[in-house]
Amino acid sequence: MDPEQFKAALAAADWPHDPAQLAQFATYYRYLVAENEKMNLTALTAEADVYLKHFYDSLTLLQAAPDLKLADLALCDVGAGAGFPSLPVKILNPQLHVTIVDALQKRIDFLARLTEQLGVDGVQLVHARAEEFGAKTSGYRASFDVVTARAVAPLNVLAELCLPLVKIGGRFIAMKGSRAEREVDAAQTALDLLGGEVTAELDVTLPETGDARSLVVITKVAKTPGKYPRKPGTPAKQPLG
Ligand code: SAM
Repeated sequence: MDPEQFKAALAAADWPHDPAQLAQFATYYRYLVAENEKMNLTALTAEADVYLKHFYDSLTLLQAAPDLKLADLALCDVGAGAGFPSLPVKILNPQLHVTIVDALQKRIDFLARLTEQLGVDGVQLVHARAEEFGAKTSGYRASFDVVTARAVAPLNVLAELCLPLVKIGGRFIAMKGSRAEREVDAAQTALDLLGGEVTAELDVTLPETGDARSLVVITKVAKTPGKYPRKPGTPAKQPLG
């Protein structure tokens, strides 16, 4: 998907955009590949791949949460790495409050320089493990309307990292591949313990490649017990359930 095809795809998906926003995506691409020479940010570097599999793929989050387009909501992206999915969503929706938490300082430093280059404000960057960021003593617990993550951990692990951060009535949206159904089954006990309930599963097909994606929408229906998340590393070592 080259930048012209990306522009057409945005129009087809009814994601409003202007030339300045398209220029921000071009800046994002150039800066990502330049910095990728110095540090490991992405395995994809060809322009068409980055536009399709990072930018467009990130924006499919809007299909599961169309209100991100309209409202002044707080979105948290856990393990955003080089900024996916939250920064493409932020470029198209400047009114959104975005918080990114990542365990790697180098990636947070990259994102600080990138957001400056892009000229976006309202992006908070936090170097932390999600287990600490969502702890009972953290001011961030239960404070986000939407929490999302892509390519970070299996759902039964990810739920413990993300659900504590979601407000009651808010959503945790996991961006998954074609094996989502199996992950949802394996995460059922964890979701029950953490106060989450699967309220939608959207199948998305990427244009051109036909790659299957699944957006799992989990609504926070009850408070997460204070003992979760457990200490850093434990959710991955001993997944709930
Ligand atoms: N979400 C991005 C994407 O889709 O391209 C990056 C995916 S990358 C494979 C996983 C990222 O999650 C890394 O940047 C890593 O540092 C971060 N990460 C993994 N476990 C984490 C944790 N417990 N807390 C915070 N960040 C974590």
